[in-house]
Amino acid sequence: MSEFVNIPQIYGSYVFGEKEMRARLSRDVYKSLRRSMMTGEELEPVVADATACAMKEWAIEQGATHFTHWFQPLTGTTAEKHDSFISPQGDGSVIMELRGKELIRGEPDASSFPSGGIRATFEARGYTVWDITSPAFLYDNGETKTLCIPTAFCSYTGEALDKKTPLLRSMEAISKQAVRICRLFGDNETTKVISSVGAEQEYFIVDRATYLKRKDLIFTGRTLFGAMPPKGQEMEDHYFGAIKERVSNYMRDLDVELWKLGIPAKTEHNEAAPAQHELAPIYGTTNVATDENMLVMNVMKKVALRHGLVCLLHEKPFAGVNGSGKHNNWSLGTDTGRNLLSPGKEPQKNLCFLLMLAAVMKAVDEHAGLLRMSASNPGNDHRLGSNEAPPAIISMFLGEQLTAVVEHIIAGSEDSVPSMSIMKVGVSTLPLIRRDATDRNRTSPFAFTGNKFEFRMVPSSGCIADANTVLNTIVADALCGFADELEQAQDFDAALRALIRREMTAHQRIIFNGNGYTDEWVAEAARRGLRNIRSMVEAIPELVEPDAIALFERHGVYTEKELRARADVSYELYSKTINIEALTMIDMAGKDVIPAVIRYTTQLAASVAAVETAGGDASVQKELLTRVTVLLKQASSALSELRVCQQKGAAMSGAAQAHYEHDKVCQAMEVLRAPVDHLEMICDSTIWPMPTYGDLLFNV
Ligand code: ADP
Ligand code: MG
Repeated sequence: MSEFVNIPQIYGSYVFGEKEMRARLSRDVYKSLRRSMMTGEELEPVVADATACAMKEWAIEQGATHFTHWFQPLTGTTAEKHDSFISPQGDGSVIMELRGKELIRGEPDASSFPSGGIRATFEARGYTVWDITSPAFLYDNGETKTLCIPTAFCSYTGEALDKKTPLLRSMEAISKQAVRICRLFGDNETTKVISSVGAEQEYFIVDRATYLKRKDLIFTGRTLFGAMPPKGQEMEDHYFGAIKERVSNYMRDLDVELWKLGIPAKTEHNEAAPAQHELAPIYGTTNVATDENMLVMNVMKKVALRHGLVCLLHEKPFAGVNGSGKHNNWSLGTDTGRNLLSPGKEPQKNLCFLLMLAAVMKAVDEHAGLLRMSASNPGNDHRLGSNEAPPAIISMFLGEQLTAVVEHIIAGSEDSVPSMSIMKVGVSTLPLIRRDATDRNRTSPFAFTGNKFEFRMVPSSGCIADANTVLNTIVADALCGFADELEQAQDFDAALRALIRREMTAHQRIIFNGNGYTDEWVAEAARRGLRNIRSMVEAIPELVEPDAIALFERHGVYTEKELRARADVSYELYSKTINIEALTMIDMAGKDVIPAVIRYTTQLAASVAAVETAGGDASVQKELLTRVTVLLKQASSALSELRVCQQKGAAMSGAAQAHYEHDKVCQAMEVLRAPVDHLEMICDSTIWPMPTYGDLLFNV
C-alpha cells in the first residue's frame, strides 16, 4: 500500500487520450480525428480504421483481450457487452482485430434494457455509437482488462435509449444560443460554448463482513430496519475529522485507480455523518464529466472490496443519519477560455454576466419542476426535504452582494453596490462570496459559488446526465429568447439593460438566501408560488407537461416520444425499487426478526417460571415480556398488512402502480419498521439477528 507511486507517470495511463493518439496515429489521421472531435463531424472510414487499429494495439500492449461499447441505459447505471478482438482466419488461426466500423458502431442485443416502449422486444435492435469526445479507456478487473469505448445508445429509428444522447444534444443547444449572446457583445472569436461540470460525490464506507449480514443492504443498498445507536453525528467529530487508516488506505488506492483512468480526483474528506466521505474531481466538459462520474462510482465500489469494505452510494443508507448527494457544479465557458458565469471585479458593470445571471434565474424559476424531476430517484425521496438535504423546493442562492446588485437593478438604482467582498470574486481562488455564505448557503439547492452554480439536489447514486441535460436546455431556452430580442434591438445597450431589469424583476422570487431547512421557508416559498414537489412520483409528470415537451423539442434535445418513454421508465423503475424493498423487508421480518423475538419471549417466559418456582420476584421479566409481546404483535400484524400491499402493488402497472407503491407500500413499510426498531432497543443484543447501526457506522 505504501509503495511509491509515480503519479505523473501513471496518470492517464489507462486512457487512449491525446498523448497516445499523437504518438500512434499518422499526422493526417490525427488531424482528421481531432477535427471530428472538435466539430462532431463523422469520421471518414480510413480514419476510423486507422484509429481503431492504433487503439487496439495500445489496448493489447496493456493486456486487454476484449473491447466493449460502454453506455448509459435508462436504468441509470452503465452497461457493456464484451467482444474479443479475435478474428478467425481461413487457416484456423486467429488475428487480433478491431475494425473502424466496430469502433464507431455496435449493435448490442439490447432488448432487455428499458426503453419505455420505444423498442418493442421483438425489435431488439439498438445501436451504440462512439462518442469521440469522450476518450476510450481500459477497465481493469483484476485478471482481465477491457477496452471500453464510451458510446451513445439509440434505437434503429434514432430515438435515444440512453442518457448520453440527450446530454450531447443539450450541449449543442446551449452552445448555439450562448454563442449568439457572445456575438451580441462583440465577441467574434468564440465558436463554441462548453458547459462544464465538476461532480462532488458523497458515499459511505462500511465493513464488508458486517455488510454481508444485512440482507437489506445487499438487496436494496439501504437499511430497512435499524435503531439509532447511542452516538450519532451530534458530536460533529467526523466532519472534516482525521481519516481513519483503513479508510485512508482505501482512498489512496481509489485515487491511484482514478488517476490511471485520467480522472482528476482532487480532494477527499470526511462528511457530516459517521462513515460518510466525499470525493471531488476537477471539473471537465459535461459529457466527459458524466462518464467520469459513472466510472468514479464503479471504481469506488470495486476498490472497496479489495480492502474488505463496501461502498454505499444510496442516498439514504441509514435513517436518521445524513444522506448522500452529488454536488453538481455547473458553468459555461467559451472555447477561447472565458468563463461566462464569472462576475469579474465589478459585476454591476459586467452586463454580459448579468444577462447570463438573468437567464439562469429565468430558467430555474420557469422550469423548477423539470430540475426537481432531474434530481429524482427512489432513494432521494428519503433525502430531499429532510433535515440535512436541500429542501424539495427549488430556489437560488446568490449571496448577499450579488443579491444586492440584483436588487439595485430591479429598483432601477444607479448607486453602486458596496462591493468590497465581490471585488475578491474572480481574482481569488477562494472567492469571498463563498466564505461569507458558508452555513446558510449549504442549505440552498441551487447556489451561485463564485463562477459556477452548484446544484445540490442530485442523487448520490444517480447519473448526472439528467440534471445537466435539463440545466443546459432550460438556460439555452432563456438565452435563445434573449438573443431573439436583442438581435432586433435598435439601441442594444438600452434594450439590454431593460431586458436584464425586466427578467430579474419577473424572476426575483426564485432568489432565497436564508436557511432552507426551516418551516418558515416552506411557508414563504408557498407564498411566493414556488412549488414543493415532495416525491419522485409527483415529479415524473413534469417530463410530459406540454411546456416541457415544447421546450425540449424546440432545442432538439428530446422528442415527445422520448419524453413519454422516459416518464414510463421512471414509473417502472420507482415501482420495482419499492417492490424489492418491500419483499426484502417481508423476508427479514418474517424469517429473521420475528423468529428471533419469539425465541427471546420463550427465554423470558422460562425465566419467569424458573424465578417464580424458586420463590423469587420475576416482575421485571414479566414486564419486559409484556412489552416485547405487544411490539411483537404489532410487528406481526404490520407484516401481514405489508404482504397484502406488496402483492396488490406488484399486480399493478404504470403510473397507478407507482402511486400505489408510494402511498401504500412505503407507508406499510414504515408501519412495520417502527415496532421492529423499538424491539431492537429492548431485546437482548445477543438474540438480535443482524448487525446494528452502531456496528455498521462505527466499525471501520
Ligand atoms: P469547494 O466547493 O470546496 O469550495 P471548489 O469550489 O473549488 O471547491 O470546487 C468544487 C467543485 O466545483 C470541484 O469539483 C471543481 O472542479 C468544480 N468547479 C470549479 N470550477 C468549475 C467550473 N468552471 N465549472 C464546473 N465545475 C467547476
Ligand atoms: Mg460543494
